[in-house]
Amino acid sequence: MKILFLGPPGAGKGTQAVQVASYFGLAHVSTGDMFRALSDETELGRRVLAIMASGELVPDETTIEMLEARIEEDDAQDGYILDGFPRTLAQAEALDAFLGDDSLDHVVVLEVPEDELVLRLMARGRADDTEDSVRTRLGVYARDTEPLIAHYEPRGIVRHIHGLGDIDTITTSIIRAIES
Ligand code: AMP
Repeated sequence: MKILFLGPPGAGKGTQAVQVASYFGLAHVSTGDMFRALSDETELGRRVLAIMASGELVPDETTIEMLEARIEEDDAQDGYILDGFPRTLAQAEALDAFLGDDSLDHVVVLEVPEDELVLRLMARGRADDTEDSVRTRLGVYARDTEPLIAHYEPRGIVRHIHGLGDIDTITTSIIRAIES
């Protein structure tokens, strides 16, 4: 089973993806985690970490190459949850081409009001959670990533989940939506 988690920064994608992946025995694939693990001792690492700090997106080519290599690893062969990829239409189209007939089974969209997102992101204290970067990331989401919902909607695989409230209750609603 292959599931994509979509939603704005701060919606709780990472937290929910970890819990739902563990419930279904799927690999958790997060491009953000993969980028954060890059060393600033390398040219690529320095370039990517600087882009992340600004809140902009890492170029599609770099991201797609890294993601495709990741989902070919052994632990992803029984399925995975994509958390933070694709984020642009070009990435979604590359993924469609890469998966072919073996396409995504579910798209989970986590919905949280924008004023709550800003509060959560400012409270989180990650290296890229400065006020400027938070504003940039919310704008980038609305411009580049939110349109992906319309890309997947015609396939009938999109489930909208209310992302406010108790973490375990939200996990249960996601699992129920996937199993129904
Ligand atoms: P995340 O942990 O998903 O919030 O990602 C943190 C940062 O990593 C983003 O703000 C981007 O700079 C970068 N990033 C993660 N995933 C992608 C992606 N699919 N395409 C481009 N940049 C990404």
